[in-house]
Amino acid sequence: MKITNLGFPNVYKSLIKKAVEGFWRGKRSKEDIIKAENEVIEFNADVQSNLDLQPVFDIDVYDRLLRTSVMFGIVPERFGSPEETNRDIGIYLSIPRGTEREKASSMVKWFNTNYHVVQPEIEHDPKLVSGIRLSDLSGKNKKLALIGPLTLLSYAINNSGQSNVELFKKLSKTYISFINSLPDVIVQLEEPSFITEGIPEDYRGFIGLLERKIHLHIYFGAANSFAEELFSFPVAGIGLDFIDGDSNLELLNKFPSDKTLIAGIINGRNVWRASTGTKEILEKITEKIPEERLYISPSCSLQHVPLTSEGEAEIFSFALEKLKELEAIKNGTINYIDIQYEDVPLPTEDYSRSKKTYWVSDISYPTTTIGTFPQTPELRKIRKDWKSGVVSDDEYEEFIKDYIRLWISRQEELGIDILVHGEPERADMVQYFAELLEGFTTIKGSVQSYGTRHVRPPVISGKIKRKKPMTVKWAKYAQSLTEKSVKGIITGPVTMVQWSFPREDISKNAQFYEMAEALAEEVDDLIKAGIKHIQIDEPALREGLPLEHSKREHYLRHAVNAFRLVYANVPDDVVVHSHMCFSEFTDIMEAIKEMGVDVLSIEDSKAKGKTADFLKEGGFPGSIGLGVFDVHSPRIPQVEEMITIPDSLNIDPKKIWINPDCGLKTRGDEAYTQLKKMMEAALRLREDTK
Ligand code: GLN
Ligand code: ZN
Repeated sequence: MKITNLGFPNVYKSLIKKAVEGFWRGKRSKEDIIKAENEVIEFNADVQSNLDLQPVFDIDVYDRLLRTSVMFGIVPERFGSPEETNRDIGIYLSIPRGTEREKASSMVKWFNTNYHVVQPEIEHDPKLVSGIRLSDLSGKNKKLALIGPLTLLSYAINNSGQSNVELFKKLSKTYISFINSLPDVIVQLEEPSFITEGIPEDYRGFIGLLERKIHLHIYFGAANSFAEELFSFPVAGIGLDFIDGDSNLELLNKFPSDKTLIAGIINGRNVWRASTGTKEILEKITEKIPEERLYISPSCSLQHVPLTSEGEAEIFSFALEKLKELEAIKNGTINYIDIQYEDVPLPTEDYSRSKKTYWVSDISYPTTTIGTFPQTPELRKIRKDWKSGVVSDDEYEEFIKDYIRLWISRQEELGIDILVHGEPERADMVQYFAELLEGFTTIKGSVQSYGTRHVRPPVISGKIKRKKPMTVKWAKYAQSLTEKSVKGIITGPVTMVQWSFPREDISKNAQFYEMAEALAEEVDDLIKAGIKHIQIDEPALREGLPLEHSKREHYLRHAVNAFRLVYANVPDDVVVHSHMCFSEFTDIMEAIKEMGVDVLSIEDSKAKGKTADFLKEGGFPGSIGLGVFDVHSPRIPQVEEMITIPDSLNIDPKKIWINPDCGLKTRGDEAYTQLKKMMEAALRLREDTK
């Protein structure tokens, strides 16, 4: 048995982050970025030298998918030519960031992880750019990690005027030229999109023309639905994920005897040490696959876990430790931790509130915001000082109250209808609740969320329980300042679990329900405190959708049922809102309806009305909150552009809410002006309906 890895974090000493951000501030040079990248590559190579096969080309200074697009000539014309972009890291980095004149390419989540990739925009025929910076491929144990053409295409926005079939033909040709020009090296070709899209017809032709040894990797799910074809491809090895794709175990009998299996048996997306569960999987594999044709590896790139668990709890294993575990498994010296998986029964009843009608506003185009207001440097500083004990509880509380008072009066000035307290007590919503709940542990290590942004997701380490009210004090205070209604805002059960590292000894669905019960207690207390509007944010509901189609119904049923458990007991006069910041509703429409909320606010400023239209056509019974401007940009939106969509919808104006498309946390002073314009738009709309 041999050991390998699929990819490694790029976060070593935050060298790349510091260099890129420093470059944007004018403090560091382009050479500094290259130097930082090289240092990280060197470190990564060094710590992976225990592997029989080591990935190179697996990290980037910003995003691998972006780098892959650029090398195959996919660069939006507004930034420059592919050649220039490949040569000049300044141009390269302007794609995800935008320039003064040009808007950035958008970012989307990488499958069902919390990592964001930059979406390729295809305007022209792909072509191989010259002068690709390849790291050192010499040495016997290196393989080149490459996102495959189908996966790249499935993330792309196709503005080329050609069909995807045609584009695949052209793109795969450039892949062939690239791969066949490489020195004699193994290529780790990654195609998780097989799981979502199936294998395209032309794939066999493509793979047959590759003249290097190929290890074709499918991760984040199982390959059962296309295994026959996959196994017949002329490749040297096939990589399967036995963690997210548990049913891959059923394929072992059919695994071709002329190929190597790269078995992902260590969870690349979670932080726990290898367990007796890992051992069982490995035993099943070695029963069928002879050791000379077997590599073991993490289930996916280790970029989804922090670098090292040194200084953290014993039970954790991050990227470096997972490599050591692989070695110990190979040498037979591993100490598996004993995790007994418990099949916690899931509720069979459907939670719902007794009231079956939907609340509708009595004014046209009611207005609100999503929750957060700008988090100022002063706010961040005092929060930090309070946590480290420099600032007293009283002082901190006064500061938060001042912030709430200021924003309640601003919202009243603006004439907003349903107010929020602004969430100044939450640096990050998931972390905020995690710190107050029982069952969560926080860690020091961080993972790349996108580009230069690193996050520190909490870990669910035990039964989730609420210790005491978490948001009531602030909501109550805000409500005491105004005659208007203030929303009580909490983060929904699915998002809390999705954006944490979950337990492995019970199912994720079971964790949704535990979380939901804790949140239901919070809702209870909010209502006792006189709050009439409850908003349960679920921005991660869509992204939790399993890649395997066969698993989706089960996920959605329990995700939605756990969500409803949070508010099932509210009195009839309470209005339930939810917010989701995505606009991909096509495959979860039924689930959205079943969430049963009175008001659903959605990100629509980029989808330009499509989402609202879609929801209406899908028969969504409640009111829709239209995100009329993009909170990620400091730009002041124009009244005209905000009224066209609501105006064009054939929906009762009392059921159309006007609001920003997410929280305003990352904005500065301009947020007030943006909201002022938004209110002008709402007033104009109201006048027009008279
Ligand atoms: N209420 C949260 C906020 O306004 C929602 C955040 C989110 O959707 N990601 O920040
Ligand atoms: Zn949002």
